[in-house]
Amino acid sequence: MDYLWTPWRYRYVSSKTDESSPESREHCVFCRILASEASDRDALIVHRAEHNFVILNRYPYTSGHMLVVPFDHVASLAEAPCTATEEMMRLTRQLERVLRSLYAPDGINIGMNIGRAGGAGVAGHVHMHALPRWIADSNFATVIGETRVLPEALAVTWERVRAEIERASV
Ligand SMILES: [Zn+2]
Repeated sequence: MDYLWTPWRYRYVSSKTDESSPESREHCVFCRILASEASDRDALIVHRAEHNFVILNRYPYTSGHMLVVPFDHVASLAEAPCTATEEMMRLTRQLERVLRSLYAPDGINIGMNIGRAGGAGVAGHVHMHALPRWIADSNFATVIGETRVLPEALAVTWERVRAEIERASV
C-alpha cells in the first residue's frame, strides 16, 4: 500500500481572505493574533520567548499539536534572523521533552512546511510543527472521513502544556 503522508495539510483558519492573500501580514493569522487584544488563553498561546512564541494548533492533527512561530512575519527560514531560528530550534527541542512528559507518545513529528505547495496552512509566516504520535493514531475516521478524533479539548491542552512548560522552565 502507498501512503501519502500529509498530516499538516489542514488550514489553521478557514477564512477566504487568508487563502487569497497568503503572503500578506494583515491577512496572516499569526500576525493578527499577535496584534489582537485576546488573552494568551483565548489565543491559545502557551509560551512567549524572546523571538518566538508557542501556540496550540487550533486544528490539531493530534492532541498536543503545537507551533513555534517567530514574532517577525517572515515566509522562510532564510529570511529569519539566526537568533530567531536558533531560538526556534531550542524551543522545539524543549517541546519534544514537554510532549514526552505530558503525552507519553510512541513518536513525535517535528517539521516545517514552507510555502503553499509545501503544505503550509499559513504560507506567509514560517512556523515549526511539533506533535505527538501514537502507533495507529491515523484511524479510519481520519483516513476516510478527513475527521480528526481528538480526545482532549484545546482549553485542557492549553492548561496542561502551559503548566508543563513553566515547570520545565522552557
Ligand atoms: Zn505573519
